Amino acid sequence: MPSLDSTSAPHGTGGTDAMARAFRARFGGDPEGVWQAPGRVNLIGEHTDYNDGFVLPLALPHATRVAAARRTDGRLRVHSAQAAQPAEVDLAGLVPGSVEGWAVYPAAVVWALREAGHEVGGADLYVDSDVPVGAGLSSSAALECAVGLAYSDLHGLGLELPQLALLAQRAENGFAGVPCGVMDQMASACCAAGAALFLDTRDLSARQVPLDLAAAGLLLLVVDTQVKHELADGAYAERRAGCERAARLLGLSALRELEPSGLEAALARLPEPGLRPLTRHVVTENARVRQVVSLLDAGDPRGIGPLLTEGHASLRDDFAVSCAETDLVVAVANRAGALGARMTGGGFGGSVVVLAELGDADRIAEAVADAFAAEGWKPPRTFTAVPSEGARRLG
Ligand code: ADP
Ligand code: MG
Repeated sequence: MPSLDSTSAPHGTGGTDAMARAFRARFGGDPEGVWQAPGRVNLIGEHTDYNDGFVLPLALPHATRVAAARRTDGRLRVHSAQAAQPAEVDLAGLVPGSVEGWAVYPAAVVWALREAGHEVGGADLYVDSDVPVGAGLSSSAALECAVGLAYSDLHGLGLELPQLALLAQRAENGFAGVPCGVMDQMASACCAAGAALFLDTRDLSARQVPLDLAAAGLLLLVVDTQVKHELADGAYAERRAGCERAARLLGLSALRELEPSGLEAALARLPEPGLRPLTRHVVTENARVRQVVSLLDAGDPRGIGPLLTEGHASLRDDFAVSCAETDLVVAVANRAGALGARMTGGGFGGSVVVLAELGDADRIAEAVADAFAAEGWKPPRTFTAVPSEGARRLG
């Protein structure tokens, strides 16, 4: 029995017609268009984006769609197929903290647009998504980028995709109160089908790195553990603050400036021993991203496996953001013949990426499912990540 769980394959959220029908059922009139932005999985480069470092995400086929129409009364009305409650926001009183629940994300985008000087008004938005929510696959960035692109088109703002990403990040940081780096939004906005996005988060210079794993007889599995531990958000902010403090103490503007050759000396100089493992993770992780890109460029995708597993060890032992569930997936997948595996996303649950030979995928997924059953844990959801297109208008 194949153990790849088809329920978490992208089921599609319906085409533009289905989105328009659903929009009409909620709001009465027709939408002016439908936009979509994908979730992402990060191949390597974790907790590096807020250190001005390197990341290598790819967009998933799973995406969030938004059917939208402008309103002239300064109100934002939002429905989501994934949320029990619709919401209505009066944009006149839009300040951080004024919106509760999931509507904070679309409202945040309107807030960020206005902060950037765009005089945008209200809208009706119908949202539907097959991006797993809270699984470390960036459903929040997908929602922000889809809403942001809809607004850009409806108001003729002509935002370039990297601008859209920066705006979405500003929305999440400044309005939704999540201190994320720029990777998730850049991935959702700027990834291309068939490629991973090699991004330098310092200046947003980016290159599409072709990633045709199937042609090499390989595939990338995503294992969603379906757990998100309570401490995730606080721990993220704490790690970020620790990295910024380490950089300051070392006289750097960001840890990205530290090269592996200078690491040992820098660690010896750091007066707070607790900051040393954080620093080591960031420096070694940036080096791993560059090595992975070199191997992919050289046509050696199998060669990246050990780097993925090393990256996981660094996140587990130095950065301390893994958890029992992600550690188990990595260990079991590697024992079952994977070429390499690592947790992906912020940590404390979420998902694991596994690089495997095509013929081994079912066996690996089964071994992981059996290991979860033996622990008495809810079964993980496993699917294949095919590098997909970034944000775009659908119709
Ligand atoms: P991740 O981005 O890893 O999926 P986050 O905690 O950053 O996890 O974002 C998840 C939140 O984003 C949800 O709790 C919800 O508020 C919002 N969200 C994402 N997708 C949707 C959707 N389709 N409908 C409504 N809210 C959504
Ligand atoms: Mg998120």
